[in-house]
Amino acid sequence: MKHFLCFLLLFLSINSCMNKDELKALSKQNNSFHDSIYEPQQKRSEFAIVIHGGAGTILKENMTSEKEATYRSKLEEAIRVGYNILKDGGSSLDAVQKTINILEDSPLFNAGKGAVFTNAETNELDASIMDGKTLNAGASASTKTVKNPIDLARAIMENSPHVMLSGEGAEAFAIEQGIEMVDYGYFFTENRYQSLQRSKEKEGDEKNNKMAIDRPEIKDSKFGTVGCVALDKDGNLAAGTSTGGMTNKRWGRIGDSPIIGAGTYANNNTCAVSSTGWGEFFIRALVAHDISALMEYKGLSIQEAAKEVIQKKVPDLGGDGGIIAVDKYGNMVMEFNTAGMYRASIDDQGELYIGIYKD
Ligand code: ASP
Repeated sequence: MKHFLCFLLLFLSINSCMNKDELKALSKQNNSFHDSIYEPQQKRSEFAIVIHGGAGTILKENMTSEKEATYRSKLEEAIRVGYNILKDGGSSLDAVQKTINILEDSPLFNAGKGAVFTNAETNELDASIMDGKTLNAGASASTKTVKNPIDLARAIMENSPHVMLSGEGAEAFAIEQGIEMVDYGYFFTENRYQSLQRSKEKEGDEKNNKMAIDRPEIKDSKFGTVGCVALDKDGNLAAGTSTGGMTNKRWGRIGDSPIIGAGTYANNNTCAVSSTGWGEFFIRALVAHDISALMEYKGLSIQEAAKEVIQKKVPDLGGDGGIIAVDKYGNMVMEFNTAGMYRASIDDQGELYIGIYKD
């Protein structure tokens, strides 16, 4: 009996120690969880802007120095528009929209003027924008005559009770809003037309019924989407994305770009993200929101969150592409798992970075 009591006391005291240790570990865990989310971190930049012009098989050996210079100068022209807006105290939403307008007006990118062709030889454009302060968002899909779809996305966000409009309805709303419309012919570019012809030659009828994942030729038929994320001096984040989608798309296909949470996401508590890549996978991985969620719920940094999604989650599913992101402290990320991604960034010191290939 005496032995039994001694054993019982010993057991209870070990057990209570373990409980205390466990509790300590738990509270430590909780502290670090909250620390990384709620405690002010070092401000990296008072305002910041990042853009992309699509990710894909962009290899130095396939590029002439003139072509590279043309891309670099257009990326710089675009980002400087947004940078000047932010520097003068303008909003991140204005910076995102006006920067994307420059890229949409250039035939270099698969958005606006340079949009790729569908299987029916039309151009069907998608875009979205999100305000990190209010979590308000706007998106348009499959428009054929809106010159700058990002303008329409913003009008949908601000002047309609809806988040996403598509096709003819979206165009009717654009006309009501006084948004600039163009003829179908505006989007014709020889180079994109030839890409469609090449893509059609590559595919056999039988292949059309295969799932995208089984069709390697799809990989290079879609890149060139544009996107922009920004943090303004008031601490507001915004993100926007605009695209022509995928060359040779059919059946009214819509990619990730106009889908809030996949192609675009912004939340003042975490970050702003714009995606580019194989849309089907970005939709299924909910890429943009997933990065924000990893920061919000798991306390990951923006770099860690972007890496987790772009280097693990998306390739594990079989997809490829990249993202640009900026967090509420002005930390900027350009993460991609392809050979290259057209990209640029500027911080509040005016430091410009432009990249094309994997460095
Ligand atoms: N994500 C776009 C889409 O699938 C394409 C791209 O980013 O280039 O529509």
